[in-house]
Amino acid sequence: MPKSISTVLSVFLVTVLFMFSGCTETTTEIEKRVSEYAPTTITGDVDNLSQSDQVVLEKLVEASKIMHSIFITQACPDYSEIRNEIVSNESDATLKYFEINVGPWDRRYHFEPFYSERQHPEGANYYPQDLTEAEKDLIRDPSNGFDGLFTMIRRDEHGSLIAIPYSKFFAERLNSAAKLLNEAADLSNNDSLAAFLRSRAESFLTDDYYESDMLWMDIDSTVEVTIGPYETYEDGLFGYKAAFESFVTIVDPVESAKLSKYKNELPWFESELPILDEYKNMNRGTESPIRVVDEVYTAGDTRTAVQTIAFNLPNDERVREAKGSKKVLLRNVMNSKFEHILTPIAAKLLVPDQAADIAAESFFMHTLFHEMSHGLGPGIIEVDGRKTEVRFELKELYSAIEETKADAMGPWCIFKLQPKGHFPESIYRQQAVTFLAGLFRSVRFGIAEAHGSANAIQFNYLLERKVISVEDGLFSIDVDAFPAALNELVAEILTIQAEGNYDAAKEFSDKYSVMPDCLAAGLAQLDGVPVDLLPEYRWAK
Ligand SMILES: [Zn+2]
Repeated sequence: MPKSISTVLSVFLVTVLFMFSGCTETTTEIEKRVSEYAPTTITGDVDNLSQSDQVVLEKLVEASKIMHSIFITQACPDYSEIRNEIVSNESDATLKYFEINVGPWDRRYHFEPFYSERQHPEGANYYPQDLTEAEKDLIRDPSNGFDGLFTMIRRDEHGSLIAIPYSKFFAERLNSAAKLLNEAADLSNNDSLAAFLRSRAESFLTDDYYESDMLWMDIDSTVEVTIGPYETYEDGLFGYKAAFESFVTIVDPVESAKLSKYKNELPWFESELPILDEYKNMNRGTESPIRVVDEVYTAGDTRTAVQTIAFNLPNDERVREAKGSKKVLLRNVMNSKFEHILTPIAAKLLVPDQAADIAAESFFMHTLFHEMSHGLGPGIIEVDGRKTEVRFELKELYSAIEETKADAMGPWCIFKLQPKGHFPESIYRQQAVTFLAGLFRSVRFGIAEAHGSANAIQFNYLLERKVISVEDGLFSIDVDAFPAALNELVAEILTIQAEGNYDAAKEFSDKYSVMPDCLAAGLAQLDGVPVDLLPEYRWAK
């Protein structure tokens, strides 16, 4: 992705400094980067859980630790070797940063190395490290069977590529995790949770996640867990491979029920999308439960660098068409970010009368509707008479495009609902200014990452249309012009998706996923404001 000259230069300088480790600048820089993740206690009301739920929770945390170990293998070739080098030769800060990033590459800076000269492999550790261009073409062609979500690609004894199912590649660890899930199921008094856990344990051994994804949708339990291979962001080469992760959470049933009224609006939103009727996806399931939860433990993919505030799963379109998707809002994480990050960003970068109007409630609602929006729009599509999915057609660009869609459609949905009486008129202003502060928050994740890139795209799109403007280093948003500009952005993205148009996605991303000077200057003023949280749980890693 395009980078501004200043970013390239700073990354280059930092890399050069790191190559001569031992000098004080190096230490200072790495300590600074570690300090950008504010240590924050993340917990829920564990002590008031029933005795059996507490024991179930312990088992789930143990299984989650295994997910973390598997993710490490997926993300970073030679992890243990590099870690040992760091332990022997480098500072504690370097080790801490290595663990935050799960590897020696900075996830906020285009995966540039912060330790040693090893370059980040685009395909992480999912593929052999020495792939030739011809082999990449082989993998790219779905008829060769290397594109499975749940396989690692390696070489056989003759050097030919082979796809090894996760259940075999990670057999020992997945067996242990399955055992823990079955034990948790035996201890649980909740049938829906137990059914999911048993089925997910089976999935670990068979690589068939369909049935357990279906059961995950039906969990109705105070303790809730999301565990397994899900997102494909880590595979920057093809976006094929799913990374292991886990969220252990405690559900707030009252808040969850309050929000469930919005899910009834999903078919209406779909019918109102600003695209051709033939592109609308009226077949999606509308069950779409919403859960407001407090996070008590996470592991794997989601534990790296920037912490998740909400998610929308599963990704399997068959489950989505049958049952919709579940939106899980991690309330305690969201509140911590609003307080520690969003509020100081607004104070530094927004014109004062707009900064005064940012609202935790708007941040929460934007996040909720962001997640709802992942369940709207094209999913299974037809390209040249071929049945396929948007994510397969847009390949490595899919994640950033999909995140842009969800971000822009979040307020789009809220503004659609306002005249129906769901929100007061003040929501237009609160959403707009909170959205603006949120763009800075997320661009700081680095535009190499899907969410960071998505926010750069929105910023530049709105800047081009003068909906965002900057004067004397302070930014403001044109509240009245915002809804129409959003509608335009939503229409463009959805059309790219509906047509599965990779070339259009590439052109769009090349144009907007960039760092203009005014944005870089704004971000430079945020020194001292944490970029994100470093979660501390009651269980050690
Ligand atoms: Zn998202």
